[in-house]
Amino acid sequence: MLGSAKVVDLTIPLGADVVMWPGAPAPEAETLVTVAHDGFFARRVTFFEHSGTHFDAPCHFIDGQSTVDQIPAQSLVRPIAVIDISERVGNDADAVLTLDEVLAFEATNGEIPQGAAVFLRTGWEEKNSDVVAYSGQPGDLRFPGFGVEAAQFLVESRGVVGLGIDTLGIDSGEASHFPVHSQITHPKGLWHLENLQNLKALPPLGAWVVVGVLPLVGGSGSPARVLALLP
Ligand SMILES: [Zn+2]
Repeated sequence: MLGSAKVVDLTIPLGADVVMWPGAPAPEAETLVTVAHDGFFARRVTFFEHSGTHFDAPCHFIDGQSTVDQIPAQSLVRPIAVIDISERVGNDADAVLTLDEVLAFEATNGEIPQGAAVFLRTGWEEKNSDVVAYSGQPGDLRFPGFGVEAAQFLVESRGVVGLGIDTLGIDSGEASHFPVHSQITHPKGLWHLENLQNLKALPPLGAWVVVGVLPLVGGSGSPARVLALLP
């Protein structure tokens, strides 16, 4: 069954120039041994848990919720629904996914299956090499996200296990109190993927995601290699 699947990589390569949340330290790599000197090559890498394409565990906003190593593997390989609002969003950094857009998606494509993950394509991924275009001016975070009503519907009426997006965060940049993170998803044990790319290569329904997140003991999240499988 999987032999004929096409694999789409949704991951931004993780290096020193990856786009970061303002103020968070960029990844650093230090060469410890080299082939020429030691016979083998290896580095020590230091990174903020929420760097580049990364996973948010529920404990990121809720004390006592699951850490990244406690996420069941079953929850990391899921069918995905991909809602594309990039045309409507255009360059509107304050755009959020509305409940009407979710319902219109279902009217066209069918109901989002229970236990799926929902990825939102805003088109912001096109800007991820330009920090101001992607995240806003210093002190004024701006990027699209999931609206509260839409997120509530996906969690309560569709039983989704996770949300993903092609921006810096699930909550829009404007939403400084992180209502989706702190009130809707993490309290119920859902995870997030942020800074996804290549979402335009995915069909609305029918693909699966494999979330290759590091099981960091006690971690709030981790960079992740995120692969989509297309039938
Ligand atoms: Zn995060």
